[in-house]
Amino acid sequence: MHPQKKLNYSMIKITLPDGSIREFAKGSSAMDVAMSISEGLARKVLSAQVNGETVDANRPIDTDATLRLNTWNDSEGKSTMWHSSAHLMAEALEAFYPGAKFAIGPPIENGFYYDVDFGDQSLSEKDFERIESKMLELAGQKNEYIRKSVSKAEAMAYFTEKGDPYKLELIADLNDGEITFYTQGNFTDLCRGPHIPNTGHIKAAKIMSVAGAYWRGDEKNKQLTRVYGITFPAKKELDEYLVLVEEAKKRDHRKLGKELELFHFSQRVGQGLPLWLPKGAALRARLENFLKEAQRKSGYEPVITPHIGSKELYETSGHWAKYGKDSFQPIETPVEGEVYMLKPMNCPHHCEIYKSKPRSYRDLPVRYAEFGTVYRYEQSGELHGLTRVRGFTQDDAHIFCTVDQVKGEMAKVIDLVLYIFKTLDFKDFIAQVSLRDPNNPDKYIGSLQNWEKAERAIQEVADEKGLKTVVEYGEAAFYGPKLDFMVRDAIGRKWQLGTVQIDYNLPERFELDYTGADNQKHRPVMIHRAPFGSMERFVAILIEHTAGKFPLWLSPEQVRILPVSDKFNEYSQSVSTELNNCDIRALVDERSEKVGKKIREAEIDKVPYMLIIGEKEESNGTVSVRKQGDGDLGEMSIAAFAHLINEAVKQQVN
Ligand SMILES: [Zn+2]
Ligand SMILES: [Zn+2]
Repeated sequence: MHPQKKLNYSMIKITLPDGSIREFAKGSSAMDVAMSISEGLARKVLSAQVNGETVDANRPIDTDATLRLNTWNDSEGKSTMWHSSAHLMAEALEAFYPGAKFAIGPPIENGFYYDVDFGDQSLSEKDFERIESKMLELAGQKNEYIRKSVSKAEAMAYFTEKGDPYKLELIADLNDGEITFYTQGNFTDLCRGPHIPNTGHIKAAKIMSVAGAYWRGDEKNKQLTRVYGITFPAKKELDEYLVLVEEAKKRDHRKLGKELELFHFSQRVGQGLPLWLPKGAALRARLENFLKEAQRKSGYEPVITPHIGSKELYETSGHWAKYGKDSFQPIETPVEGEVYMLKPMNCPHHCEIYKSKPRSYRDLPVRYAEFGTVYRYEQSGELHGLTRVRGFTQDDAHIFCTVDQVKGEMAKVIDLVLYIFKTLDFKDFIAQVSLRDPNNPDKYIGSLQNWEKAERAIQEVADEKGLKTVVEYGEAAFYGPKLDFMVRDAIGRKWQLGTVQIDYNLPERFELDYTGADNQKHRPVMIHRAPFGSMERFVAILIEHTAGKFPLWLSPEQVRILPVSDKFNEYSQSVSTELNNCDIRALVDERSEKVGKKIREAEIDKVPYMLIIGEKEESNGTVSVRKQGDGDLGEMSIAAFAHLINEAVKQQVN
């Protein structure tokens, strides 16, 4: 028999996510597999995971493989759709702006962008609609995304002829033999894929915004126009998305932070360096005290370390190599030879605290906690409210323990995170377990035995705690596996919060040890954990999650006292004093305004309780209570009201 013929007839085994195994002719595609299941399914397939790699659904599969079909319902499917939409948008832009040059066009969390050099022309909001219409017109042609392997010379020739210096620069960095083009309709792009089968999947398109972006993120390069867009497989989904965008705008922490007087940025202080205003500082202090108390109960010991450290400290930790050149530059002293760095991480300082005395196995675990402020340089274009800043305070802690204690410590950390989520009303979350890449065992430091123990411990604990988990292979850091919590906020957006990271690296670099029961020296394991992440980012998420209506226990102003006229200011002040003595944060609105106006403003300021004070209240020694959103609760004694508030707070934090 002819050998090639024999190959054609050979079969491959495809393992589906449910564990079932089916046989197909060699060279079958994910689309063929989908068709064999149902035509309806095949119509929904956007791309596929073959042995963990995302590929075009029509790519031939030549070996036994695990296969997952990506549809709009999973993140890989969305990502393929949006990446393909960037090509479609480029085609539409080219129709109106001939000669436009295209840089890069990746998918992002919501949609995609393309960085474009429009030359002498420019793109503004009034152009969006015609681009959207053009995209839908082209989508309606159901053009296939056709893949073609090209040599480096061919690729260079194509973009030289087209006159696109950005693509030429990208090609220069690629290896000959690994370059592919994709063409849909009249547009050909340098791309490794994958893409959706054809443009017909795109049924709704919206250009969201434009912004400036430097080529390759470098301020020395030319500024390009970043065009943001999003697409959907149905018009209805686009409409729903736009409602969500409006809601998100209302909740934007930068807007609410200003309105509620929580924080402020001053150019004179410096970019990305937040100033906490009194109400914001009160909110943050409540959060910190809440966590400090929970940590005290869990056996953490507070420590305090300086905001700078010697260069040598960070050379030992490895942070010099990581942050030295690309972050804030070293601080030099008037005396030569001393060099310091702004602290980018708290861990090295805590390692030195561990080393401050000899340790025995009986001392472990040791848990050091610090609200430690760190500084990292971010490009000015990357700064964003409190979520991307240049100085921030981590709710940091480091646990030093034996390998056998890892599981118990992980369990305690998870309990702490769950307690925080419950108190702050984050109900919807999952835990991501990041493990080693099984195909790349040499990438990791630490013994194989320790890794296996720790990875098993994380997974077992997550199961025992009933966490909803996703396991990601290859996502572990080189120095240890980790567990990340992802929460969904009140309007369905995902945020990463709370990281727990096992570390075999720093104990090695700092030569940490303890004396075991066997009288020998051993290395402890280090666990880094920060349930909030940073106070800045967490407060931003909390503002957007609650739309500024913080739970009563956290509200910077829990009660506003509203005298109906100046005559009652004095009694109102005495009510305020009495409440403050009961640990309730109350302020008096003493302005000579109509009480109706005062109520409206207190509602806008999202103050949970209002107390109306007039003739009757003063002579009875009482207050009339209004609750934000609920209206009138009637007249009661000051003591009864204080009791009501304190009980409500106790309910929230217990
Ligand atoms: Zn592409
Ligand atoms: Zn750390």
